[in-house]
Amino acid sequence: MRYAKTKALLAGALLVSLAACGGGGGGSTVKVDVNKDAKFPSGSTMAKLQDAGKIKIGVKIDQPGIGFKDAGSDVPEGFDIEMGRIVAAGMGLSDDQIEWVTTISDNREPFLQKGTVDIVIASYSITDERRQIVGQAGPYYVTGQQLLVAADDDSIKGPDDLDGKKVCSVTGSTSIETVEKEYGANPAGFDSYSECVTQLQNGNVDAVTTDGAILLGYAAQDPDNLKVVGDPFSEERYGVGYKKGDTEFCQYITDTIQKAMDDGKWADAFKATLGKSGVDTPEPPKMDPCE
Ligand code: GLU
Repeated sequence: MRYAKTKALLAGALLVSLAACGGGGGGSTVKVDVNKDAKFPSGSTMAKLQDAGKIKIGVKIDQPGIGFKDAGSDVPEGFDIEMGRIVAAGMGLSDDQIEWVTTISDNREPFLQKGTVDIVIASYSITDERRQIVGQAGPYYVTGQQLLVAADDDSIKGPDDLDGKKVCSVTGSTSIETVEKEYGANPAGFDSYSECVTQLQNGNVDAVTTDGAILLGYAAQDPDNLKVVGDPFSEERYGVGYKKGDTEFCQYITDTIQKAMDDGKWADAFKATLGKSGVDTPEPPKMDPCE
């Protein structure tokens, strides 16, 4: 598995980086070009958002490096947040015109379907099942599922050791489904990964599982008690959620992120968040066409 080796390398680097900046990414944000002259077809979602002068973006706020909000701050930070700023800026919307709406894994689809948010950027893996009910543009990042265990636990080294173990993950995530269906774990479902981490720290569960990029942030916050083990055992392709059927909007999101990948803003965003230690930034993934 080529991606497993790359992720393992990335894992070590992330641990250092997030520990160094206190887990939250240090508040760095990339300078984005707010395109005040952008023109869109009338009636398009882009034109409507531009006219409204506001976009509502669903994000996580408890995942260091990805979407994280410090207790004292009103603005979240992380790689997902940077992607949101880039998408908004392409429609002429600056940071103060973005409303960050807190999402959990389980309400991402309903939030898009009901219009609670205009887009979701929340460690949201692209799956065929999800694409039946919402649109997902991307991937803008690829990671893989791993395990977080107590630092002194040598009984769990990978997913094959999970049979019969109590494993915490989040309801509505790909992570909980994978450990239950493929590895015979006894899952405990919570609303957020931070709740799972507390369960692990209190000894109520044997492991927490989700994407490596998420787990490394938690391990970095409590390195004496927590560690990430094993190679990634899934491929999680992060996408931007939008209302199903809005192909024009999908094209806009894809083109805007592609431009950021081409002009270096995507790499700047990675470096300022997940890649804080100065580790090599990955090659941007190839994005899917909008159908
Ligand atoms: N990326 C996975 C998912 O979308 C796990 C992380 C999360 O729950 O946000 O389900």
